[in-house]
Amino acid sequence: MEFGYTPEQLEFKERIHKFAVEHMRPVALKHDKEQSVPWDVMKAAAAEGIGTLDFMMKIGDDPQGQYSVIYAEEMHWGCAGIALAIAGSGLAAAGIASSGTQEQMEKWVPLCFANGEELHLGAYAVTEPSAGSDVKSLRTTAKLDGDEWVLNGSKVFITNGGIADVTVVVASVDPELGTRGQASFIVPKDTPGFSQGKKEDKLGIRASQTTEVILEDCRVPAEYLLGGMDKLNKKLENARAGKKVGGANALATFELTRPFVGASAIGIARAAYEFTVEYLAEQKIDGKPALDNPGIHQQIADLATEIDAARLLVQRASWMGRNGIPLMGGQGSMSKLKCGDVAVWATAKCMDLVGPASWDTDLPLEKWYRDAKIYQIFEGTSQIQRMVIGRLQVGEFRTRLEAAKAAYDDAAKAAAEPVPA
Ligand SMILES: Cc1cc2nc3c(=O)[nH]c(=O)nc-3n(C[C@H](O)[C@H](O)[C@H](O)COP(=O)(O)OP(=O)(O)OC[C@H]3O[C@@H](n4cnc5c(N)ncnc54)[C@H](O)[C@@H]3O)c2cc1C
Repeated sequence: MEFGYTPEQLEFKERIHKFAVEHMRPVALKHDKEQSVPWDVMKAAAAEGIGTLDFMMKIGDDPQGQYSVIYAEEMHWGCAGIALAIAGSGLAAAGIASSGTQEQMEKWVPLCFANGEELHLGAYAVTEPSAGSDVKSLRTTAKLDGDEWVLNGSKVFITNGGIADVTVVVASVDPELGTRGQASFIVPKDTPGFSQGKKEDKLGIRASQTTEVILEDCRVPAEYLLGGMDKLNKKLENARAGKKVGGANALATFELTRPFVGASAIGIARAAYEFTVEYLAEQKIDGKPALDNPGIHQQIADLATEIDAARLLVQRASWMGRNGIPLMGGQGSMSKLKCGDVAVWATAKCMDLVGPASWDTDLPLEKWYRDAKIYQIFEGTSQIQRMVIGRLQVGEFRTRLEAAKAAYDDAAKAAAEPVPA
C-alpha cells in the first residue's frame, strides 16, 4: 500500500494550486459578492489547459485515481463557486458517458468542455420541485412523436442552467415504471421550447450559476436519446415484465462523482484551516503567542485530524472507483458524507478560533463558512448518503453471515460423515 503522492502527482497538485492562487483567489470575493459567472477565470483556465476535455481525459487516466480528487481539492481551495462553474460540466459529461453510445460520447462530451479560446459548458438536469432524492417521482416527460422526442416539465437548482451549451435532461418515458421508465436526453442550448427560469440567489458558491430550466414542448431529434432506441425498448420491456434491470441512470451518474464532491468540500475546509493557523500566528492570548497556547493546540489537532481522515476516505473511494473495485460498503458515499460534515464543522470551528473578525466580509472565512454548507445538501444529501451506506453495510453483513452459515453447515456435514476405515 502506497500513501504518498508520486512526483507526477505532486507536480500536478502544485500546478493546480498555482492556478488557484493566481487566478481564483484574487477574484473570489468579487464574484461571490456580485454573484457573477466567472467567465474571466474560465477563460484563464482554458488558456492554461485546465478543465478542458484533454485535461479531464488525462486526469481520468491516472491508474491510482488521484488526479481528479487532487484537482477538485486545489480548485475548491481557490474558490468553491468558481471551481464548480468550471467543474459542473463534468456532471453532464458523466451523464453522457454512463448512458450514451460511443458515437454520442464522441459527439457531445467535447461540447461540454472548453476548447482553446472557445468556452463550452455542460449541465445535468435531474432535480424537480418534487423529485431529487426521490428520483423515481420525476414529472418531466418525454414522448416520441415521429422522429422527435417532445420534452415537457421543469427542473430546479440546475448548475450552469441557462448558460450550458449542452444539457442532459433526465425525463420519464413511462412514469408507471419509476426510475426504470426514465431516460436521458441531450438538449442543446438554443432548442426551441428550452429556456432558463429563475436564477437562484444563493447563500454560498455564488459564482456558480444555479437556475430553473423549463421544457415546453421542447423537441429534440430521436437520436438525442442517450443509449438509443433499442436499449431503451429493451429496458422498458424488462421492467414491464418485472425483470430486474440495471440501476437508474441518474443514480449511476451521481455514484461516479461522489469522491470528487468530497474532495471539493475538503478544499474549502483546508482553505479555512490554513487561513486560521496563519491568522493565529499573528495573535496573542494573555500576552503570549496564540500558537503556543495548549487550548489552541487541542483545536488545531482536531481540525487537522478530521481533514486528513476525510481526505483518506476520498483517496480510497477514488482509487477503488478507478480500479473497478465495487464500492460495496458505500465507500463513495462515505467519502462525500464525511467531507461535507467536516467542511461545515471545520469552517465553523475556524470562525470560532478567529473570533469576531471572522464575521467581517473583508476576511474570506465567512465565505468559506457559507460555501461549505452545500456539501451536506447537493449530489445527495447527508441523510441520503447515510441511507446508501446503511443499506450496503447491512447487505454486506448479510452476505458474510450467509457465507459463514454455509461454511458452518459444510463443516458440520463433513464432521457427521463416517470416517473411512
Ligand atoms: C446549489 C445547488 C446546485 C445543484 N445542482 C444540481 C444540478 O446541477 N443538477 C441537478 O439535477 N440537481 C442539482 N441540485 C439539486 C440537489 O442535488 C438536490 O436538491 C438534493 O439532492 C436534494 O434533493 P431534493 O431537492 O429532492 O430534496 P429532498 O430530498 O426533498 O430533501 C429534503 C430533506 O428530506 C431528506 N430526505 C429525503 N429523502 C430522505 C430519505 N429517504 N431518508 C431520509 N431523509 C430524506 C433530505 O435529506 C433533506 O433533509 C442542486 C442543488 C443546489 C442547492
